[in-house]
Amino acid sequence: MKYAVYSKEPLKEEIMIKLKGKLDYQNPDFVFSFGGDGTMLNAVNQYIDNTDKTIFIGINTGKLGFYTDYALEELDSIIDSINKGEVFCHEFSLLEYSLIKNNQVKKGYALNEVAITNPIHTQIIEVYINEKMFETFRGTGLLVSTPSGSTGYNKSLGGSVMDCSLEAIQLTEIAAINNRIFKSLASPLIIPSNNKVSMISHDSDNIYISVDGRYEEFRDVEKIEVMFSNKKVKMLGSKNYSFYNRVKKSFIE
Ligand code: NAP
Repeated sequence: MKYAVYSKEPLKEEIMIKLKGKLDYQNPDFVFSFGGDGTMLNAVNQYIDNTDKTIFIGINTGKLGFYTDYALEELDSIIDSINKGEVFCHEFSLLEYSLIKNNQVKKGYALNEVAITNPIHTQIIEVYINEKMFETFRGTGLLVSTPSGSTGYNKSLGGSVMDCSLEAIQLTEIAAINNRIFKSLASPLIIPSNNKVSMISHDSDNIYISVDGRYEEFRDVEKIEVMFSNKKVKMLGSKNYSFYNRVKKSFIE
């Protein structure tokens, strides 16, 4: 078994000693993410091409940790279980996006969301669902989240929390202007997995595209397409740990 370690801060020597000799940052079977969700999002992004064979392990070091099921004290027992082949995974869906201009296309995946914002000027975005015109949005921006991302930025915007077993994405408005003149749906919209959302901004050189909290550099984007992806991320977890435990642990307890 080969491991990779992902952490924003340097890890203590005693932790590294436990993993030493098994480290392979090119082709790890397991990626240990030490931190919170932000660290896990970056770890998944770093190994996005390895998701078929790599299992992520979230070790919480004092953050919210929606994606982190383990404490630092459990590291020995995790390694022991891996050595015994006792591995159970939770799967999280991704969304895939394409940023398009002229004949250039930049593709990628998100575990939480893709957000298109302009914090200064009113943004006008034409929204198409399956290439059919749906609405013209005016406001700060739009966000498309995965089921597991629905408890992140999406939730702060009044979006619904989606069970992670659902195969769908969610479109949520960020500070929409709704009045006599301008009208958009003004509520979150759940979109099934075989549907595509396309967004065309009227002021494309002044928008910010963020993916899982990272800035996507792609100037003058003409069209942004977002779909549910069949690609999944596997995270080590307990058989007894359900989606509702996860939500309860993060928001209610
Ligand atoms: P960040 O500081 O890393 O994260 C902000 C908070 O969101 C942290 O408490 C983080 O947990 C939590 N979080 C992240 N993903 C979550 C999920 N799927 N369910 C529940 N909570 C989650 O911020 P960032 O680096 O800018 O962006 C990372 C993510 O944070 C984004 O993908 C976005 O979902 C979220 N975010 C939220 C807002 C908002 O609510 N206004 C604004 C920006 C970003 P940890 O403490 O464990 O890291």
